[in-house]
Amino acid sequence: RYMSDNAKLEHLNVGTIGHIDHGKTMLTSAITKVFSGNGKTKFMKYDEIDRAEEERARGITINACHVDYYSSGRHYAHTDCPGHIDYIKNMITGAAQMDVAVLVVAASEGVMPQTTEHILLAKQIGIKNIIVYLNKVDIVDEDTLELVELEVRELLDNFGYDSEAIPIIPGSALDVLNEKDSEWGTKSIMKLIDALDRCKIPTRDTKGPFRLPIEKAVTVPGRGTVAIGTISKGNLKKSQEVRLMGRGVDIKTIASDIQVFHQSVSKATAGENVGVLLRGLRKDIVQRGMFLSQDDSLSQTDTFEAQIYVQTKEEGGRKVPLMNNYVNQIYMENWDIACMVKLAENVPMIMPGDTALCKMILRLPMVLEPGQRFFIREGTITALTGIISKILP
Ligand code: GDP
Ligand code: MG
Repeated sequence: RYMSDNAKLEHLNVGTIGHIDHGKTMLTSAITKVFSGNGKTKFMKYDEIDRAEEERARGITINACHVDYYSSGRHYAHTDCPGHIDYIKNMITGAAQMDVAVLVVAASEGVMPQTTEHILLAKQIGIKNIIVYLNKVDIVDEDTLELVELEVRELLDNFGYDSEAIPIIPGSALDVLNEKDSEWGTKSIMKLIDALDRCKIPTRDTKGPFRLPIEKAVTVPGRGTVAIGTISKGNLKKSQEVRLMGRGVDIKTIASDIQVFHQSVSKATAGENVGVLLRGLRKDIVQRGMFLSQDDSLSQTDTFEAQIYVQTKEEGGRKVPLMNNYVNQIYMENWDIACMVKLAENVPMIMPGDTALCKMILRLPMVLEPGQRFFIREGTITALTGIISKILP
């Protein structure tokens, strides 16, 4: 029933989003539990998934947990983040690769601030598919459940999603883990997986020149440095020459091995999360925000022109206007770096709610393309969003 060759499976990237303590991690664990029955999926216990938090406490910057599971026709790579800030970062930076977001809302609490913020971000970064899991149904009555469902639909509609087309699945991740034979247990997960299987696969650009935004680098003892990320364009073949670029670095090397979910493969393609063993490179050279590409298909620069929008307080933005030479962390694709905003000479400031054409200067040259979108965060708020209009010399 389950295809033996992963390469034949359709691949989709999923992520749980939603307010803290609404049960994202428990749901992630529950999904793997239900699917561990098929022999290919490994059951990940609740504590195993949340271990990321402990590691972070020890100073290791792991801010997302990746698990994978298989339905009969698809392979899912699932991301669960430990905290709200990790979500913000991962949605803005890495979630360009989130094909489907599973929004977890605890029926006992309903819509909360982080629920709203995550839906806003999902919309802004262009996530097309949302599935809602109304969790903790074991502790609410039917009237509450109905009210929360209405509330969630209204919220989705307000952010421009068509809530009629969005599956809302009531359930209890706790019941699943406790193997309780309730209506909200395993069956709710089957419904969820069915909804996932129905999500449209985004068209992947497998034809264009190879491009891999690097999420992180790890050292494999005895082997070398492995760059990890999801291929955004084209194909990569084992032993192919690749160019590492970004943060001012520009080095040619060889992809001496490619791994997809811990298995060595001869070729990987757009949409796949891969580990690429880079010949002769030290780990500290390879960083998030760098790209692997072929030949001269990418270029890097530190200066560009952008159309920006300064968000209002109501939109989660600033109370006060933005002044010339404003500096803060800019988030693009899957990286972030310090950036200065230069206003045009005749523009003394930009009020929240206004747009302007600005010159942006990054701390280091990065791989950029016109049309790319970005955000600038200021602590807990998203001060501005924008789009690159022109790369400047
Ligand atoms: P996260 O912050 O969204 O990842 O939330 P967790 O998965 O860590 O869950 C937060 C708390 O809610 C934990 O104490 C869980 O035991 C509890 N919880 C999660 N799912 C359920 C559920 O379906 N029913 C009930 N009653 N409690 C749940
Ligand atoms: Mg969690």
